[in-house]
Order: sequence, then structure tokens, then C-alpha cells
Amino acid sequence: MMAEFPVMSGADGHFAPADMTCLKCHRSLEHGGVTSFVYLSGGAMLMSENRTTGHADDRLSGFLSIGSWSEREMDRGPALIDIITNLTGGQFSIQWCSVDCMRQWLLGVLAEIERRA
Ligand SMILES: [Zn+2]
Repeated sequence: MMAEFPVMSGADGHFAPADMTCLKCHRSLEHGGVTSFVYLSGGAMLMSENRTTGHADDRLSGFLSIGSWSEREMDRGPALIDIITNLTGGQFSIQWCSVDCMRQWLLGVLAEIERRA
């Protein structure tokens, strides 16, 4: 089953899923009082003028997309999946319970790109 997209947008916060479950298998990321996960994180920091310090800022808008584009098929546009759109604060972390779940989820996204291309 393919995930719903986008995974995060707007004022969703910085972590997905927000309920600390695996994005692929939906199991809790906490077992016996210990939280562990595999993650994909990214974004931007708003830097001071001298670029020595930075912080998340609600003026930033985060995004993450995976796509395929061909000059031969310009009329059709890109095969695109927007994973994160217009995320307030600009920073994100997407979480899975294991490398295997992360791999399966990412391979599912890539298979969907292939299907749409
Ligand atoms: Zn999982």
C-alpha cells in the first residue's frame, strides 16, 4: 500500500509521523521505555548576518520532492511526488522503525515514480 502524500505540510511540526510510529509499518518507535528509529531529516536554518548562529524560523517553508523529468516528454511534466510541502519552520525528520522499513517505503515511492513516468 502506498503512503499518503504529502507526509508533512503546513504547521505539522518537525517530525513525521507525529505520534512516534513507523511511517511504513505504523509500530511504535518506543519499546520497553527505549525510543529508537531510522530517519531522513533536512531543511534550512535562518542564519545571523555574520552566519555564526542559526535557528529554525517560521518564515522558512520546507519541502522535499522526488521526481523524474525528461526533455522528450516536456508536454507531460515531471513524474513527481511531493513528500513534504510548505512546512512551517522549514525543518523535518521522517522516521521509520528500521532500515528495512525505510528501504521498503523509499522503494515504494520510487516504484510510484516509475509508474507515473
Ligand atoms: Zn516499521
